[in-house]
Amino acid sequence: MEDTKCPVDDCHLTVDLILKSSDGVLIGAHKANLENYSDGFPPADTTSDLTEPVDLPEDSITLDILMQFTHKHAYPDIYPLRALELFSVADAAEKYMVHSAMAVANVCVRSKIADFPSRALAYATKYNYTTIVDLAAPLTIAFELEPMRATLSDPRALSAWVQYKMTYLERLTNILNRAPPTASMDPPGWARAPNECQNWAQYASQVQSLIPAPVLTFLSSNTGDSAEALFRGHTLACMRPECNCHLRANEWKGDIIGLLKHTPALSTFLGR
Ligand SMILES: [Zn+2]
Ligand SMILES: [Zn+2]
Repeated sequence: MEDTKCPVDDCHLTVDLILKSSDGVLIGAHKANLENYSDGFPPADTTSDLTEPVDLPEDSITLDILMQFTHKHAYPDIYPLRALELFSVADAAEKYMVHSAMAVANVCVRSKIADFPSRALAYATKYNYTTIVDLAAPLTIAFELEPMRATLSDPRALSAWVQYKMTYLERLTNILNRAPPTASMDPPGWARAPNECQNWAQYASQVQSLIPAPVLTFLSSNTGDSAEALFRGHTLACMRPECNCHLRANEWKGDIIGLLKHTPALSTFLGR
C-alpha cells in the first residue's frame, strides 16, 4: 500500500485507501481526508478489506484532481482543463460532494459558458445552478433539437429547453408578422393607428421580404443582436418625424432586438 502514491507531491499522510480508476490507475487516498472533505465517498465505510483497491467509475485524471481537493493544500488549477475533463471533475465533485471542488468547478464552468453552452446547461440543470442555467440558455436558442436531446440527458431539462425555445419562436414569429397576441381580440397593430401614411406599409413589406421562411432558417443565423441586420439598408421614406410610421418602425426593431431578453428565463420552465 505504501507503493501507491497520493497525488499531492509533498503529502506525508499515510495512504490507507487505494482507489482504482476506470483506466486502471491506482491512486492513494486517506480515509480521514475523504471523511473531512467530502460527503459521499463510499470506500471509507463500505470496504472491509482495505488492502484491496476500490474500483471507481471515474478516470485517473478526474480522481487525481479530486483527491487533491481533499487536502489542506493549494488546490489544483482546473481552469485550463478541456471541457470533457472539466465536466468530469465537476460531475465527480457533485457525486462525492467534495465541496471545494464543486465550488471551483462551478466558477470555471460559469466563466467559460460561451465555450460550451449546451454542456453548461446540462450540468446546471442537473445540479440546480439556476444562474448558470439562465446564462447558458440564450446561447443555445439557435441550437437544433437532436444535439440538445443528446446533451441534455435529463428529460426535465430537455422539456424546459423545448418550452423555452418554443416561447421564443412564437414571440419571434408574432413580432416578424406584426401579428397581435393570439388571445387578443384587438385589431392588428397597423390597423390601430389613425395617423398612418402609406410609407409604413411599403417599409414593412420591404423588410418582411428579407425574412427567410421558415423562421427556423432565420434563427440559425440570427439571434439577438444580429437580428438588427434585418433592418439595415431600409429607411422610411416619410419626411414627417411626428408620423406614426417612425414610431412603428422603431417599435418593430426594438421588439426583435429585445426579444431574447424578454423571453422568460429557461429556469422558469423547469419543473413545469
Ligand atoms: Zn495525500
Ligand atoms: Zn409616415
